[in-house]
Amino acid sequence: MTAVDILQLITHEVQTCTRCALHTGRTRAVPGEGPPSAEVMLIGEGPGYHEDRQGRPFVGPSGQLLDDLLALAGLQRADVFIGNVIKCRPPKNRDPLPDEVATCTQAYLFRQIEALNPKVIVTLGRFSMNLFLPGEKISRIHGQPRIVEGRLIVPMLHPAAALHQPQNRPLLEADFRRLPELLATVEREAPAPAPATRPNDEPPLEQLSLF
Ligand code: URA
Repeated sequence: MTAVDILQLITHEVQTCTRCALHTGRTRAVPGEGPPSAEVMLIGEGPGYHEDRQGRPFVGPSGQLLDDLLALAGLQRADVFIGNVIKCRPPKNRDPLPDEVATCTQAYLFRQIEALNPKVIVTLGRFSMNLFLPGEKISRIHGQPRIVEGRLIVPMLHPAAALHQPQNRPLLEADFRRLPELLATVEREAPAPAPATRPNDEPPLEQLSLF
């Protein structure tokens, strides 16, 4: 199967998923979207109200801000793949539970990463960061690129953090402005990312020499 086939298959599986209790409360599951050739993958936490209605990631207020942030990096939504840790909206937007995260990432997100094989993964918020950099604090390491299992991970604040606390916006903007430079560096420096990642299986953490 090609990457396109696999991504389409995952989309279909997510739309019909009943693996955890979250499916009972959803309007629509949100598989994620973007071109299979995307070099940058952004991973948010999970659908909110608007995403649940439309079945698309980041289409509410956080999504509008995300579009503006992407523009600072010279990117448009159509250039990147946008996914989430969990694919169904939790009741009252509560935090995802550990077993929901484990079930959903193993069934879907890690397969999406494997198929897409992006050069850079931008994690948005702590749940997404925790998949790759467990035990870290987002307020301490946001904007600092790390290599995890051969792939560049750039942890960033969640856009909602800037909506709730405007003083976070300049931090997010600065981190997004650095993205083109990081992408260019990884293209020059880093070996091609190994396919098939299960980020939590091993803890290796290196720093790219140039960063
Ligand atoms: N917040 C997220 O983390 N993901 C979305 O898709 C929307 C809002």
